[in-house]
Amino acid sequence: MTSDASRELFEAAKRLMPGGVSSPVRAISPYPFYVARAQGPHLWTVDGEKLIDYCLAYGPMILGHRHPAVMERVAEQLDRGWLYGTPSELEVSLAKRIVGHYPSIDMLRFVNTGTEATMAALRIARGYTGKDRIVKVEGGFHGAHDSVLVKAGSGATTLGTPDSLGVPKDTAKNTLQVPYNDLEAIESLLEGFDGEVAAVIMEPVLGNIGPILPEEGYLEGVRRLTEDHGVLLIFDEVITGFRLSLGGAQAFYGVVPDITTLGKVIGGGFPIGVVGGRRDLLETVAPRGGVYQAGTFNGSPVSLAAGMATLDVLEGERVLERLNAVGDGLRAALSDIVEDLGLGYSVVGIASIFKVFFGDLPKNYVEALRCNKAGYFAFFRRMLQAGVFLPPSQFETNFLSAAHTDDVINETLEAYKLNLRS
Ligand SMILES: *Cc1c(COP(=O)(O)O)cnc(C)c1O
Repeated sequence: MTSDASRELFEAAKRLMPGGVSSPVRAISPYPFYVARAQGPHLWTVDGEKLIDYCLAYGPMILGHRHPAVMERVAEQLDRGWLYGTPSELEVSLAKRIVGHYPSIDMLRFVNTGTEATMAALRIARGYTGKDRIVKVEGGFHGAHDSVLVKAGSGATTLGTPDSLGVPKDTAKNTLQVPYNDLEAIESLLEGFDGEVAAVIMEPVLGNIGPILPEEGYLEGVRRLTEDHGVLLIFDEVITGFRLSLGGAQAFYGVVPDITTLGKVIGGGFPIGVVGGRRDLLETVAPRGGVYQAGTFNGSPVSLAAGMATLDVLEGERVLERLNAVGDGLRAALSDIVEDLGLGYSVVGIASIFKVFFGDLPKNYVEALRCNKAGYFAFFRRMLQAGVFLPPSQFETNFLSAAHTDDVINETLEAYKLNLRS
């Protein structure tokens, strides 16, 4: 391959796929790099470059690329066949393990993506309560379906408007939004729409706009307010699940929702989604109940096998503890670098997620928008030149994996030191 390989592939791709990509965030300007192979914390491009990977496929690859335990388990499964259209023992085994880790989950359904999981969670909430309206947090991301593709920043008490062509206004109007870390806003919204709201759906740690952490007492407050108003609480733990702790953010912060969605990590890098929750809620799902959900690939044995192997490793002694300690160390070192440079940037994150904000530490979506996005993108390009692949946007979280060694981290910190300043 020549050093023009990625550019040439993207030229061809643009004629074949909208924007040249299979998902919008991948359309990195002026053209994305194409990956030839991956191993541990590294990606190799078709142009012959080696990159340290902090995107990690936007979250799933918590063990790094090509972890031997996952490869072995998946190979074993391929030997036995990979899709049956009938139940497999793996479903029972993995379901038991997930239920064991999540205080909120008595029963669950396996689906294929986080998008499908939140879609099912909202349908369950609406089916159970008989109410149409839902509340989401501004800047929270729950996948790409109609109910959650609403414009941010339209004000707390106005009805939602579509954030994508093709989303019916009649659907969007049922999605109300509140700013993150603002209990008064959610209280007045639930009072204003008393008796009309099925559920509040939120990422306990806002992962798709930063990350942004919950302030002391915020999650507990949301739990109390939803309970007081007879509204279900859905934690979308597609990022935080099996990452903040084995029991996700709910175990980490000690706040138990009614419904939980999982994805990313629990598929070990293969497609997966999980919607789980209280028994009476999940018993509304077909064929037990009247809330319809179905899928050819639901409970796909290869994804479940990869999830089992990933969980085997993560349940190992001090594995997440160590990974999270690496995260603490990295954030502390980055904070020192940022402070020394005196550029007014801030470092944020928790466990194995982190980000440098080009601006003051935000506590919600509107504040996050004030950062220097263009400056961040220029920094992203300099880091790529230096061999470090960060997600290409100020608003996408950086992830760490268990494969990121001290050497790799130190190399990364050097690159930050040299490239944060333009
Ligand atoms: C990635 C993500 C989703 C969507 O998951 P997909 O598997 O991409 O459909 C939903 N919610 C959150 C919080 C996510 O980060």
